[in-house]
Amino acid sequence: MPRVLIECPATGKMIYTGINLNWQTFEAYRIGEQSVPCPQCGATHIWRRVDAELDESGGYN
Ligand SMILES: [Zn+2]
Repeated sequence: MPRVLIECPATGKMIYTGINLNWQTFEAYRIGEQSVPCPQCGATHIWRRVDAELDESGGYN
């Protein structure tokens, strides 16, 4: 299942939010505001669905 990624605003790198959703669920699901501890910069980022993208390759972290 695709991983939900957001871009770290401090480093510009994509980070894994710890959530996996398929496209159908991603479109339908009311995610609201989520927070994720960022492995790149160490801060906690608040994100919404509009900030997220799906990584179907599962190839990077
Ligand atoms: Zn960050």
